[in-house]
Amino acid sequence: MAKQKKEKLIGQVRTRIAPSPTGYPHVGTAFQALFDWVYARRYDGQYILRIEDTDQKRLVVDAEEVLYQAFSWLDLLPDEGPKVGGQYGPYRQSERLELYQQYAQQLVEQGDAYYCFCSAERLTQIRETQRKTGQPPMYDRHCRNLSLKEAKARIEAGKKVVVRLKVPDDQTIRVYDELRGEVKFDSNIVDDQVLLKSDGFPTYHLAVVVDDHLMGITHIVRGEEWLSSAPKHVLLYQYFNWPIPKLIHTPTLRNPDKSKLSKRKGNTSLWWYREHGYLPTALLNFLALLVWKPNEQTEIFTRKEMVKFFEWREMNVTGPIFDIKKLNWLNGKYLRKLSKEELEKHLSEWADWVEKKGQDQEVVNEVKLFKEWKNSKPNVLRQAVSLAKDRARTLREIPQAIAFYFESDLEYDGHDLLQDHEAVEMIKVLTAVDQQLLEIQKNDSQVWEKTIRQAADKHDLSHKDLFMALRSAVTAQKYTPPLYEVMTILGREESSKRIQQAINFLKN
Ligand code: GLU
Repeated sequence: MAKQKKEKLIGQVRTRIAPSPTGYPHVGTAFQALFDWVYARRYDGQYILRIEDTDQKRLVVDAEEVLYQAFSWLDLLPDEGPKVGGQYGPYRQSERLELYQQYAQQLVEQGDAYYCFCSAERLTQIRETQRKTGQPPMYDRHCRNLSLKEAKARIEAGKKVVVRLKVPDDQTIRVYDELRGEVKFDSNIVDDQVLLKSDGFPTYHLAVVVDDHLMGITHIVRGEEWLSSAPKHVLLYQYFNWPIPKLIHTPTLRNPDKSKLSKRKGNTSLWWYREHGYLPTALLNFLALLVWKPNEQTEIFTRKEMVKFFEWREMNVTGPIFDIKKLNWLNGKYLRKLSKEELEKHLSEWADWVEKKGQDQEVVNEVKLFKEWKNSKPNVLRQAVSLAKDRARTLREIPQAIAFYFESDLEYDGHDLLQDHEAVEMIKVLTAVDQQLLEIQKNDSQVWEKTIRQAADKHDLSHKDLFMALRSAVTAQKYTPPLYEVMTILGREESSKRIQQAINFLKN
């Protein structure tokens, strides 16, 4: 972007995230909010939260509160919004009803909207006929030519009324989208949309235009599913004679099979990611990466780095694939960047959260055990966690990976223990190693390693086979962090106990 243009934007940008509190926070909301935040920060502007609660039937009581928790977890709390306030409030649409009524009224007086008295039965009938004749479902404009005088008389008489947008005939409505350029719509297939409902609540279309204007929003970022509504909004801006903010319709997130990201096929709830141990920083990096990266080589970047470079025209609009494998990989990278202390902090916050809010009983149970271990053997836990960090992709994988330190009743696999040797032979070697290990005074992984290697040589066993057999004996796992370190954490007595246990297993 030309430098001049960039400087002009400094301090001028206002973005908003406008969720409807109708359910639990969606990853799509985090995706939008991230770009709102980045763009606002890039130009020293403001990023606003507006609660679009005009569809009272679909409200979920605690959804707004949960949204704050989600934004707080993601570190995306808004600069202005219902909780923090701001100069452009109120920020909940249900608290702005009079405004919408006033603007609807203005449109009617101007002749750009009209009162409609059609009953629900009549509307259903029209739709039914249209469906049968293969026409798109649209209002048939029955009330469009009622005189204002007649309409007011009916309102006076207590008739139920809505306000509808007057869409012109035979026009091309041009929508300019920052990612796609100009998109043209034939006005003949744009519906005379209801703007104000009979209960005095606005529909989304009226409320969004009025609010974006009154709140001084400069860049509207929303999902591309809203692009088809844009011509209605453009008409409203024209009727009000308001400037149109920049429109950015972000591409729909998709499952690996290219279908729209859905609850059924993937996990769309932010809480799922929280519960399953993803770090918010990694999740945001992943979401950004779906459509943007700072350069060809760089996939791991922070929001702050995005702020330095991001421009809309660089956003890739071709169906971003939400690939959880990629997220796992990224999350692992982020985990490994944490210091010991940071990791412990994340783990305990995660465990506390799952304990209170967890939905998945398996995860809840894992956390319960994790907390028990933390109380009973804090030292073992600390060391085990620190070793497990190198392999784990999520926080959740850490308790899973370290369970064997705390549960000494192991379930052995005969093949892993034997490594293709005879049981008698393996029993002999394991017994000898156990004996020697007990004789060593120091709890030192290097000394242990040497001892084990010597024992292998003495019994003519490959080092690898003995390591594998021992690993299986003390952990009952195929893959663990380096064996001696694991044994050092377990301690000589516990390691010995487990070797004995394995020997007994082989004997039976
Ligand atoms: N309330 C709309 C939603 O829930 C917001 C769309 C917009 O950002 O304009 O998605």
